Amino acid sequence: MDVVVIGAGAAGLASAIWAGRSGADTLVLDSQVKPGAKILVSGGGRCNVTNANMSAERFNSGAREFVARVLDAFPLADTVRWFSDLGVPLLAEADGRMFPKTNSSRTVLDALQRGAESAGVRLLTGQNVTGIRPGNPFQIVTKSGEFPARSVIICCGGLALPKSGSTGAGYVLASRLGHTMVATTPALTPLIADPPIHAELSGISLPAVLTLREGAKTIAQSRGSLLFTHEGYSGPCALNISRHAARAQIERRDFTMSLRILPEREFGDLSSLRKAFAGRRSGVNALSEVLPRRVAQWVCRYAGVEADTVSRALSRNACQRLWSACADLVLPPLTPAGYRTAEVTAGGVRLDEVDPATMMSRIVPGLFFAGEVLNVDGELGGYNFQWAWSGGAVAGRAAARWGLSRR
Ligand SMILES: Cc1cc2nc3c(=O)[nH]c(=O)nc-3n(C[C@H](O)[C@H](O)[C@H](O)COP(=O)(O)OP(=O)(O)OC[C@H]3O[C@@H](n4cnc5c(N)ncnc54)[C@H](O)[C@@H]3O)c2cc1C
Repeated sequence: MDVVVIGAGAAGLASAIWAGRSGADTLVLDSQVKPGAKILVSGGGRCNVTNANMSAERFNSGAREFVARVLDAFPLADTVRWFSDLGVPLLAEADGRMFPKTNSSRTVLDALQRGAESAGVRLLTGQNVTGIRPGNPFQIVTKSGEFPARSVIICCGGLALPKSGSTGAGYVLASRLGHTMVATTPALTPLIADPPIHAELSGISLPAVLTLREGAKTIAQSRGSLLFTHEGYSGPCALNISRHAARAQIERRDFTMSLRILPEREFGDLSSLRKAFAGRRSGVNALSEVLPRRVAQWVCRYAGVEADTVSRALSRNACQRLWSACADLVLPPLTPAGYRTAEVTAGGVRLDEVDPATMMSRIVPGLFFAGEVLNVDGELGGYNFQWAWSGGAVAGRAAARWGLSRR
């Protein structure tokens, strides 16, 4: 084989299609009998394929330039055209997220698998790769035998949603070949609060801001829709900041997370809250104009203010407590939920050991990477798939060139 791709998820299928289209004899091996589970469950079954507002700023990796180079090599416009050629026209929603016109992730998976087949790619399922022996050719080791490969692309994903087949095998394969891993943590995962002080509001979502601080220093901030859950917090606002909380935790940094649910524009400071309350019937009624009523009641109770206290009668101190409860509430200790519920993994193969022009290892020539296995994780909104499509296109084409040149 000119190219063997390990993993038939988003990055693996993209890599294989581009390797096949470049004329390389390409084989994809996947441990699962039915690969592609993650694509099927993505975007709530609709698959958020990419985002019209694509930018390297939306990714965490510590190496924005690397990400930008890969995204530039196979940008949004190429992705949209590629999917259209595969028979999957994409539509953008008002917030920029792009979905297949069919609103079905099945169409995306089917199109990628068909695209691979028509590029001449062979897919072998139920093939768990346990080792890669370097050499020319490499030998790709599975239980059922060895597969010679002039080039190899590791697309094993990370650790998120392990039941889909992502068990961290890519990290092990890469480490054994001399690569260094950046410690992994779950990312895009709900936050569990101890105690879950907002549990009774479970099911309510509202615009919010979460701020992660180490002492007085802001480490990260996330704005967007927040969903109260029985255990803590979910929704884009919580999911996007979860990786920062997880990193702070493994680095044993002493962090706090504070929550603002009071609209920022109308309520810049405490005096704006007092002003808004002036002359209103009760604190809870005043708050209900900007927050869901149940949330307003919770805020009053948490702040120790009788719900029917006439606003004018609110003491300065009570007003301060109300402010703290809805504009800068320091949350109880938070733990990011684990990989089981994470959408993606933060950490992975160090980027300085990979060439962004080709995605080839700087340590083992002929070895390539694409997708989540690398130390890149994007925000919610189609960014992680774009990373898989762009990295797959770069790695697939370059691995094909490498393999063909060594025939
Ligand atoms: C619930 C959920 C919803 C999501 N929704 C979105 C969304 O809407 N938009 C978005 O951009 N991102 C979304 N993501 C993230 C996105 O799915 C991932 O970023 C993307 O799938 C990563 O692609 P990948 O190919 O690198 O890894 P994966 O998709 O994880 O694929 C890895 C493949 O490698 C195989 N494999 C692993 N180890 C071996 C081995 N040893 N031998 C052989 N095969 C192996 C696995 O079986 C798997 O098929 C979501 C994730 C989850 C969990």
